[in-house]
Amino acid sequence: MLYTSTRDKSIRVSAAQAIAQGISNEGGLFVPVELPSFTADKIKSMVGMSYIDRAKTVLREFLTDFTEEELNYCVEGAYAASKFSSDKIAPTVNVAGNKNVLELWHGPTCAFKDMALQLLPYLMTVSAKKTADGKTIVILVATSGDTGKAALEGFKDVDNTKILVFYPVDGVSPMQKLQMTTQEGCNVAVCAINGNFDDAQSAVKSIFTNEEIKNELEKKNMMFSSANSINWGRLVPQIVYYFSTYCDLAQSGKISIGDEINVVVPTGNFGNILAGYYAKKMGLPIKTLVCASNTNNVLTDFLKTGTYNKNRDFYTTTSPSMDILISSNLERLLYHMSGEDDAMVRDLMSQLSAKGEYTVSDQLIAEIQSIFDAGYTDENSVDATIKEHFDKYKYLCDTHTAVAVKVYDEYVKNTRDDIPTVIDSTASPYKFCASVLNAITDEDISSMDEFDMVGELNRVSGVVIPAPIASLKDKTVRFTDVCDKEDMSQMVFKLLDL
Ligand SMILES: *Cc1c(COP(=O)(O)O)cnc(C)c1O
Repeated sequence: MLYTSTRDKSIRVSAAQAIAQGISNEGGLFVPVELPSFTADKIKSMVGMSYIDRAKTVLREFLTDFTEEELNYCVEGAYAASKFSSDKIAPTVNVAGNKNVLELWHGPTCAFKDMALQLLPYLMTVSAKKTADGKTIVILVATSGDTGKAALEGFKDVDNTKILVFYPVDGVSPMQKLQMTTQEGCNVAVCAINGNFDDAQSAVKSIFTNEEIKNELEKKNMMFSSANSINWGRLVPQIVYYFSTYCDLAQSGKISIGDEINVVVPTGNFGNILAGYYAKKMGLPIKTLVCASNTNNVLTDFLKTGTYNKNRDFYTTTSPSMDILISSNLERLLYHMSGEDDAMVRDLMSQLSAKGEYTVSDQLIAEIQSIFDAGYTDENSVDATIKEHFDKYKYLCDTHTAVAVKVYDEYVKNTRDDIPTVIDSTASPYKFCASVLNAITDEDISSMDEFDMVGELNRVSGVVIPAPIASLKDKTVRFTDVCDKEDMSQMVFKLLDL
């Protein structure tokens, strides 16, 4: 299997090259030239398998330049039972009738990013061995919260890697800060910066391209890479859980192999839902992919009208991981659904960076609408949805999941299309205690600290506190460095002993 670029389809690279390199030189994203196809018989053969074996079955088709030993090493390391609080890794839970929730947050940081970031470090080190003379990979991350912690957990103690995470000193929640500053591992470092997320992000970008730093790294046989969601190595692990949830529905008798399902995804950067699209293209019987947004509804507007316009107000919501106006992975969808029109993608992406908007042809948006539906919710409906599902079904969901649940309920109301459906659940409710408590109780929680709220949510809901959150209380803070954004490159030198 070879990969090409969304902005130059004459390019051909191996999976290892695509993963080690991250982004194509001309700025395009790597996509598979051809997708493998999974027959009903092949899907049926996966029903009796563990998550690890299902993952190997899917990934083997995409990582054709990996040996069987390498594949085993990667997948078994990433999804080891000891790292996940569910032995199913990503369990499918029935809420009521045809409404099912795929829980993607049983990993070490209690958010769905673990599904990809547990595997990425393994894929990256194997890829670097094949393509970059076994250099030590240095991952630099600027984070507004979730990605930083998930990347730290993923790369911790992985041979031949180092990871440095920068976060805005006042820009993350107390829980997120504690998750990062107590991070264990001998190859990790965390530093707060005086500035906001954009400051951290632009400083990291300029360090990536700083020749002096790159030369110093070269001398020590190191190279930079990035763990953000445009890397193919972060997308490909996500295809697996769509096959896995389908197999689980079949195993529990909710569907027969061949039956269609709908899938609903709380969406930000369009990575998760794009993985569902790939699964559908590979033969998994998915009928409609429903893209759910919060009040930052740039994707809803695009999917309804064909015009993408990021020139709009930015809202800070209770589902912060979906507060995003430039949804990078949409570029991959445009490439595939336009019949691989790389010239069109180049043109649209330059319009997006020049004037912040573009409009696709009527034909292209009609094609997209034949597969995708979309909707968004406001903040009040998020609270009401959490409360309703807790009261009625004793199912407690976080704010991101609630956005998707609400959009799904509206979808069924409007279309009467209520075939068996999987709604992706992307975070544990314990990651967003204050919002969830506010939704289900009338209590005044203003004087509680994060751990009081965790205890209170447990008392009110009876839902088990995930071990990684419970154990935070007893962890030692290891990282207290704070630096100005101008000093970040010096910090990189110091932390890497250059
Ligand atoms: C990152 C994230 C999302 C958005 O996923 P995309 O793949 O970027 O669309 C949704 N919910 C949570 C909790 C997340 O961390």
